[in-house]
Amino acid sequence: MSGMQTAWPSGTECVAKYNFLGEAEQDLPFSKGDVLTIIEVTKDPNWYKAKNNGGREGIIPANYVQKREGVKSGSKLSLMPWFHGKITREQAERLLYPPETGLYLVRESTNYPGDYTLCVSCEGKVEHYRIIYHNGKLTIDEEEFFDNLMQLVEHYTKDADGLCTRLIKPKLMEGTVAAQDEFSRSGWALNLKELRFLQSIGKGEFGDVMLGDYRGNKVAVKCIKNDATAQAFLAEASVMTQLRHNNLVQLLGVIVEEKGGLFIVTEYMAKGSLVDYLRSRGRSVLTADCLLQFSLNVCEAMEYLEANNFVHRDLAARNVLVSDDNVAKVSDFGLTKEASSTQDTGKLPVKWTSPEALREKKFSTKSDVWSYGILLWEIYSFGRVPYPRIPLKDVVPRVEKGYKMDAPDGCPPAVYDVMKQCWTLDPVARPSFRILREKLQHIRAKELYR
Ligand code: AMP
Repeated sequence: MSGMQTAWPSGTECVAKYNFLGEAEQDLPFSKGDVLTIIEVTKDPNWYKAKNNGGREGIIPANYVQKREGVKSGSKLSLMPWFHGKITREQAERLLYPPETGLYLVRESTNYPGDYTLCVSCEGKVEHYRIIYHNGKLTIDEEEFFDNLMQLVEHYTKDADGLCTRLIKPKLMEGTVAAQDEFSRSGWALNLKELRFLQSIGKGEFGDVMLGDYRGNKVAVKCIKNDATAQAFLAEASVMTQLRHNNLVQLLGVIVEEKGGLFIVTEYMAKGSLVDYLRSRGRSVLTADCLLQFSLNVCEAMEYLEANNFVHRDLAARNVLVSDDNVAKVSDFGLTKEASSTQDTGKLPVKWTSPEALREKKFSTKSDVWSYGILLWEIYSFGRVPYPRIPLKDVVPRVEKGYKMDAPDGCPPAVYDVMKQCWTLDPVARPSFRILREKLQHIRAKELYR
């Protein structure tokens, strides 16, 4: 069987590369773009038994589908992998050697600070075109103007339009990969033509969230227009490709536009953010069991992240969403990092962040446990803002001295105990999410049989 790929284990997800009509009765027909899950390997390695999203099972041809993988976090995904920053003319010429007509890169101009230079290999020579930044627009010929470098590169990729050649092949900056290529390779790129935008359902800090329809399914689409922000969101999307749990908002795919836009498509959570849900329904509607169920949902997601060495860093009720059937799922993986990472994080939500994370940037699963305690308090107070009546500047000094919030009105003492354990000042002494999940399950069992 030389040249054969190793068999995919059951549970492997794949994406259809072509349409498959199916000939025999046991075949499972599918269309390009469908997601299928392998159930078992058949005797013939060219065929798998698989299941589609609707739960239908059947036989599929292995070479019609592509395995879906997590995007590796090692290499840096880039929307502009051909951008090399501040390098000299000579360095650019070395990078474009050996000559290959249409090979190009963009660098910052050394002679004209603030401008850029497009360097293109053309019939054995390298041409350097100055890109002028003028009144917020970029131009080479003062005839065509662009909002950003991606739009400019896209334009000259289609047509030479006065340059010595059209842009054919990007010279990639070392250590970067083109985001679009990586999402396609790993099976996460979606087709913009199949996405219909229906209505706006939320405003994030960095762009609109839209309700959409993708191949007949309701989806949520985070639309990131600004190119610098889009670059930051690539990290969030690539983290999401590595995670799968019923209590994490599921990524469905990503669309990277050539001109720099980014769409992150996730499952649609019809009941919106948990904090709004708690505030709008309140005490009269939400039962004790419902609150405990939300607490358990989030805890199970966090137990999964804990087991896989991911640290969320921004756990709060505003970042939990509620599905149509009342399941709470953790979202907003913008700050999520593999546990080994030591990167800086910028602005932190003070009331949710553990003392050691605020003080020494020590983020760990145990700092997520602290935030989880605050989230429990939010749930049992029906969406109140934590530390009521304490001025923000006084929160940290008081917490450092051992101050803990009181139990919310009507909160069962056993649940308040769990909160207080999450707020143990020494991170090592805080319980793990596995232990927390066991405690909450225990509380739930006792309540149900009371
Ligand atoms: P975000 O930028 O992720 O904080 O999202 C802003 C708002 O958009 C949230 O508070 C929700 O109301 C809404 N939203 C975000 N993602 C989804 C989703 N998957 N389903 C439904 N609504 C969402």
